[in-house]
Amino acid sequence: MRAEAIIDLDAIKFNVQHLKKKAGTDVLAVVKADAYGHGLIPVAKAALSAGASYLGVALLEEAITLRENGITAPILAWLVQPGSDFESAITLDIDLAAASIKALLEIGAASKKVGKRARVHLEVDTGMTRGGFLSEWNQLDAHHVADVDIVGIYSHFARADEPEEKQNQEQLARFTKMSETLASFGFSQVTRHLSNSAATLTNSAAAFDMVRIGIAMYGLSPDVTTLGSSQSLGLRPAMQLRSSLYLVKDVPANTPVGYGATEFTKSDTRLGVVTLGYADGIPRVARAAGVWCAGKRAPIIGRVSMDQFVVDLGSDSKAQSGDWVTVFGNGSHGEFTADDWAATSSTINYEIVTRIGPRVPRIYSAHVY
Ligand SMILES: *Cc1c(COP(=O)(O)O)cnc(C)c1O
Repeated sequence: MRAEAIIDLDAIKFNVQHLKKKAGTDVLAVVKADAYGHGLIPVAKAALSAGASYLGVALLEEAITLRENGITAPILAWLVQPGSDFESAITLDIDLAAASIKALLEIGAASKKVGKRARVHLEVDTGMTRGGFLSEWNQLDAHHVADVDIVGIYSHFARADEPEEKQNQEQLARFTKMSETLASFGFSQVTRHLSNSAATLTNSAAAFDMVRIGIAMYGLSPDVTTLGSSQSLGLRPAMQLRSSLYLVKDVPANTPVGYGATEFTKSDTRLGVVTLGYADGIPRVARAAGVWCAGKRAPIIGRVSMDQFVVDLGSDSKAQSGDWVTVFGNGSHGEFTADDWAATSSTINYEIVTRIGPRVPRIYSAHVY
């Protein structure tokens, strides 16, 4: 086996339960982007079995895949383009987000065609300035929603990972006001949801009726710098990425390694070739990361290639080709974490796990360590 991502579904269940208890509300498990790289269907099932009551995805295709795999729980798809197959969405009982009058009218027209009212969550822009109703909010009237059921209202925080920022309070206040406006129009049975992982962990006042948990469900911190590590947040990282050494070789000091000869060995040493590269989601810019091999860290040396990278195993290494190495894990044995890879690649843990490519098989195990 070249490489595999081992997914600990027990960790995902544990995190869902932990976050649900923390929020004290219903939980929507965010499984977009192949469940942040962890695998859509197994993760969706694990999250539901642990008490999530909703699944959330970005794309309609993702929601349809869930239905095709027999998942009957409520699903919200929130980034459904104009011109999409709304009729299938309605037929399959997929809740749809709407962020404009145009979208509402399109969903309404599809509802009439199908002969069934779509379930719609109104997305409101409370300050992130991405999706959601902004100025159009005041023009909404009854005929825009005549053919659909408004079952939810939601918004998204821009800075929930910086709990001290006053923008959070402003967004919360706007969301409260917009929810009240909707209630004043007679829509009082709607599910209000605002919090992502970071808000769920830091701001119980923003939990409303449901929280949408993504990164924290996978056991990763929304922001290690401001909120602390997985461990300090009581979360269990679910993904371990490992690979086996394709080749080991002993080389003298001052040997150039890889494209561009950007690095040279500092002393006589043993190098290992790891069969994962940027095509698999290993960041090409990664520097101060590497693998865990035979009880110690072996740093990357030279540039990451498309399918492989080289690590410095050290002159005393007994590693052989075929030996397994851990690229990242929960850190409990001293291995690098997704946070370490993110830090050295000027990115966030979200990007590290989400970009692990389709060539890497996902293996499901309750016992990773
Ligand atoms: C991705 C996403 C989330 C989850 O965010 P996390 O920071 O991973 O918890 C929640 N809500 C919406 C609308 C999203 O797009």
